Order: sequence, then C-alpha cells, then structure tokens
Amino acid sequence: MRIIRYPHPTLRHVSKTIRRVDAELTTIVERMFDLMYEAQGIGLAANQVDLPLRFFVVNLAGKPGEGEERVFLNPVITRPKGSEESEEGCLSLPGMYGDVTRPKQVRIHAYDVSGNVIQEDASGMLARVLQHELDHLDGVLFFDRMDEMKRLKFTDALEQLESEFAEAVASGELTSVAEMAARRSEWERTYC
Ligand code: ZN
Repeated sequence: MRIIRYPHPTLRHVSKTIRRVDAELTTIVERMFDLMYEAQGIGLAANQVDLPLRFFVVNLAGKPGEGEERVFLNPVITRPKGSEESEEGCLSLPGMYGDVTRPKQVRIHAYDVSGNVIQEDASGMLARVLQHELDHLDGVLFFDRMDEMKRLKFTDALEQLESEFAEAVASGELTSVAEMAARRSEWERTYC
C-alpha cells in the first residue's frame, strides 16, 4: 500500500458506503496511519491509498503516540457555518499549497471502526481537515475549490505529475487504468 498521486483515477472516484468492517480493514486503517505519519500528513482518505471505500483517518498532531487517532467511516457533513480562507496542501499533490475558502464550522456524522456513532461540531483545523478529507471521498481535490486564477500557479506541477503518472503506467510500475478500475470494483464487491 502506498499513497497515490494526482492524476491517479482513484482520486477522482466517488467512494461507496462501507457495509463491512473486518480484520483486514482494521489492518488497512493502521497502515494508513503509518503512511500518513511517514508523509507528515494530518489526514488521509482511503482513496489516497487506492481504496474506493468511504472512510478517512485523521490525527491533527501528525505524529504517532501524540494527539488522537481518529477514523471516520461513512462520514456526512452538515450545518456549515461561516467562511474562512486558509492554506491547504495534500499528500496526493506533493509540494502544492494554496488558499481554499471553506465553512468555518461544520457538523460531522460518521462511525468509528467499532460501529459507534460519531457526531460532533468541529471548527478550526479539525473542520478544515474533515472537509478536505470528505472531498477526497467524493473525488474532489483541494485545487478544485481554489480561485481559478490562484490555481494557475499549479500548471507546471500538475503537468509534471501527469507525465510521471503516464511514465509509471508505461513502465509497468503502475497497472493500466483499466486494471485500476477492475481492482476498485473488487474492493467494492467485498466492502460496499
Ligand atoms: Zn488531500
């Protein structure tokens, strides 16, 4: 398992509701925290590790043994309040940072891996991370929400990632796009 980068098609896939949690999924969650810490992130969505499943992990401390490790299964966000612009980055868009305007406060409804209901009102950094990660599950990347002119600064970096992706597929380092889709369907058959 590894973190995939733009323009891997799983990043544009709308993740389906999870209807099963088993030992393998629990292991996947642990591995996702490890990958997130290695990459110095504070949130990671399942489709960023090429899994079309509706969940993400968060630890605002970004370090193992610090902060709180949280898993949000089948999250839904409601009651957006206020608006705030702040800089975001993404582990699937290395080196890119840009200002994104989002609601300041949101309510999240989700489940943890034991099936307990999570419902809370989030603000500040947590509200931003929850919205960024939920966007991933809907196939949305942070630059989609950026001002069109501000987004122009990413042109070269995105083209670079596009050519790296094409090379990785051509060299066999990544599977073909058709095989990626087949693999997603397989995961969905098991968990959704
Ligand atoms: Zn991201």
